[in-house]
Amino acid sequence: MKDLMQQEPLILGIESSCDETAAAVIRGRELLSDEIASSAATQAKYGGVVPELASRAHAEAVDEVVARALKNANVKKEELSAVAVTYGAGLLGALLVGLSFAKGFSYGLGIPLIGVDHIRGHLAAAYLEDKTLEPPFLTLLASGGHTAILYTERADKFRVLGGTLDDAAGEAFDKVARVLSLPYPGGPHIEALAREGNDVIPMPKMLKGGGGYDFSYSGLKTAVINYVHKMEQSDLAYSRADVACSFQHAALDVLVKKTMEGVRETGARVVTAGGGVAANGYLRERLTRACREENVRLVLPAKKHCTDNAAMIAAEGLVQYRLGNFAPLSLNAEASIPLHRSARL
Ligand code: AMP
Ligand code: MG
Repeated sequence: MKDLMQQEPLILGIESSCDETAAAVIRGRELLSDEIASSAATQAKYGGVVPELASRAHAEAVDEVVARALKNANVKKEELSAVAVTYGAGLLGALLVGLSFAKGFSYGLGIPLIGVDHIRGHLAAAYLEDKTLEPPFLTLLASGGHTAILYTERADKFRVLGGTLDDAAGEAFDKVARVLSLPYPGGPHIEALAREGNDVIPMPKMLKGGGGYDFSYSGLKTAVINYVHKMEQSDLAYSRADVACSFQHAALDVLVKKTMEGVRETGARVVTAGGGVAANGYLRERLTRACREENVRLVLPAKKHCTDNAAMIAAEGLVQYRLGNFAPLSLNAEASIPLHRSARL
């Protein structure tokens, strides 16, 4: 095992929880390579991710993607300090491909294996964006599976201030996209279409009473579906772009509002964001403006580090490496990890 006190560890990150096979190498917080192979084009034909196809695509790609990550980082595998891999949450078959590959690497090279919770990975993406970033900070996490406002107190611990009571924001984007006959994944397509429309269709409120942080996406999603069906059944013309724009504003404005309430409650001076929905340009703009008005620092990971990637897995791997938190070779994949369990290492 390499010297754990080594100042700048070299970490290989591997991600295979859904339809992206990704590998990245970091030295400390410096990103040396960042590779990705996606089976999204195949999946798009089916309107969503087919788990069996995703697993097979990972099995075919993982070897080559890892080799590319090492080559582009100009690093020999023998130089690695540790290998960090997503063990959950995600599609079990897909996770097992990356996990088994990482175990082989760890065993063969005699270096530590680090099991990364995918959600903690999304949080850690911000560490790569700003190399000086340290807790405490407040995070708006919005992905295909989670939507929550989190307060990271220490590197190994965050608190959940609140979040969605039903669908995740990304899930709502994907479902509304399907109704608008847009391809999977819907987020980027809705964003593009929304640019051509206006926010003119009334949308239901998503906030629950009581003034807490929780909100609901299912009513918003149903309202959009009902609107489109009603117009189509009555043979009435409507603007898909206006639907996209009105939905996008309703879905994202609430996230910015609740994040800023979190800033005021916790006294956080730094806000970060993570998850695929954080790649949305409208959300990024709104959050940037709100943080400027509130005079807090905003650390927004690059768009490619908001959607699934291995750089963020390596970044969380670094946090755990420094804590000496290594996994046994018996580490298993987990399809779902409740947020309260992700909250503590
Ligand atoms: P993740 O679960 O973090 O991999 O994020 C995937 C989710 O993010 C999917 O539901 C996508 O539709 C959504 N997403 C990706 N890009 C965007 C975007 N530009 N705007 C809104 N949602 C997005
Ligand atoms: Mg994700």
